[in-house]
Amino acid sequence: MINIKTDIEIEYMRKAGKVVEETLLRLEEVIKPGITTAELDKIADEFIRKQNAIPSFKGYCGFPASICTSINKEVVHGIPSKDIVLQEGDIISVDCGAILNGYQGDAARTFPVGKVSDVADKLIKITQESFFKGVEKAIVGGRLTDISAAIQQHVESNGFSVVRDYVGHGIGKEMHEDPEVPNFGRAGRGAKLAHGMVLAIEPMVNVGAFYVRTLSDKWTVVTEDGSLSAHYENTVAILNNGPEILTLS
Ligand code: MG
Ligand code: MG
Repeated sequence: MINIKTDIEIEYMRKAGKVVEETLLRLEEVIKPGITTAELDKIADEFIRKQNAIPSFKGYCGFPASICTSINKEVVHGIPSKDIVLQEGDIISVDCGAILNGYQGDAARTFPVGKVSDVADKLIKITQESFFKGVEKAIVGGRLTDISAAIQQHVESNGFSVVRDYVGHGIGKEMHEDPEVPNFGRAGRGAKLAHGMVLAIEPMVNVGAFYVRTLSDKWTVVTEDGSLSAHYENTVAILNNGPEILTLS
């Protein structure tokens, strides 16, 4: 069942979204060669709590940290560690969630570490662009998979592939609500989009094939072929006057 949010609930979600946005901006400032992903996790955790919010990932299904940090061939759900030191030329996807006054925000960015290869640069750019192609279709009266098809079209026309095994989701009081929001598929299907739906739209894009697998830590998802992967996510409210991105000002 899709929870339609009231305007007051969306106002709460704007505030939670702001916490997530600012946490990611904070991390962007400190991401450089030499920093560990455990340090990034600590910075995020302290920053979220200072704003009276709760890091929603910590303990979620047993996840041990407050952000996910996924480097290079890692797609999502990488675990921060004091042994993982960022290197010049890496790309790092950071996924962050926060709860404020009972409402959730969820967003992810992929950042370059120092100077990265041309293909890494293009991957980050196309992944981000594909999110915005999807948002253009997040309009009242449209259908859910209009978003999915727009993302897939942009990614594949640029020679990359869309991960199938992980998808976006509705969000509200729970981090993961109905509906699932795939980043692939034919337009014109799924739920009719209505004022008050809030979706986390989150393309995960690989340079090589779309196949992924999970490492023995039971969390870290990597590309099957070892190719680079990027992730870009925002929490988006569908409103009568158009989509509003709650985790990006
Ligand atoms: Mg996320
Ligand atoms: Mg999400």
